[in-house]
Amino acid sequence: MKLLENKNVIITGGSRGIGKGIAEIFAKHGANVAFTYNSSSSAAEELENHLKSFGVNAKAYQSDASDFEQAQKLADDVIQDFGNIDVLVNNAGITKDNLLMRMSEEDFDKVINVNLNSVFNLTKAVLRPMLKQKHGSIINISSVVGLKGNAGQANYSASKAGVIGFSKSVALELGSRNIRSNVIAPGFIETEMTDKLDEKTVQGWRQAIPLKRGGTPEDVANACVFLASDMSNYITGQTLSVDGGMLT
Ligand code: NAP
Repeated sequence: MKLLENKNVIITGGSRGIGKGIAEIFAKHGANVAFTYNSSSSAAEELENHLKSFGVNAKAYQSDASDFEQAQKLADDVIQDFGNIDVLVNNAGITKDNLLMRMSEEDFDKVINVNLNSVFNLTKAVLRPMLKQKHGSIINISSVVGLKGNAGQANYSASKAGVIGFSKSVALELGSRNIRSNVIAPGFIETEMTDKLDEKTVQGWRQAIPLKRGGTPEDVANACVFLASDMSNYITGQTLSVDGGMLT
């Protein structure tokens, strides 16, 4: 069953990892997919063509999610190209890990700008069209680390906890307009972001997870399909952990 037939979606950071997984599963479910990237232009072009092979409309946009003006322009361009925006997935994110003693102000600000300001920027940018059409689903990708903190990730966990507070406030403000806002909190998902980690550490993490494996981008994407679809029409302001039971 195709759960997202004819829905127009924007996914930030779709060129790799979890965002790419969401773009693929959404297209398989019949969604038209507008996705952004920061610098991976050839990967983005490849993905655009791949998504079109599912018979949906798809387009890649180079757009820095941490830039307010670029986010506004992106929403305008997507409306021009697709007609409207039913779903926004705020997925773009980075890490710049370090112990607090060694963390620079620049690395703190950069992570907050890309992971948290981006969510403000894009949500503001889609607000007007969603208010006009009287519906919308906003899905914000946070992290297990936003719920529990992590040594060496003060900047990242602050940004991801911020996403949860922001998302709940949007749910409260815009529920009366039939605009829903929910969070997905992935645990350890094996992507390029986690490829940088030492294999022995990773093996230890896998063993500590109740389901005994790292997650895949598809695991996160399937939860996003639910929150993007009409199956979740009475769900807003929630945080859904997709973490193999890590936080249990
Ligand atoms: P990834 O493989 O490093 O991919 C990051 C994506 O974000 C890329 O498409 C990248 O585009 C894009 N991006 C980075 N900065 C951007 C900017 N300023 N504007 C627009 N796009 C930008 O990361 P991932 O593991 O898939 O993570 C995706 C999301 O899930 C992030 O928010 C991350 O914090 C969250 N998350 C991940 C995990 C995990 O275990 N992997 C766990 C919990 C939460 P380019 O390719 O052009 O650089």
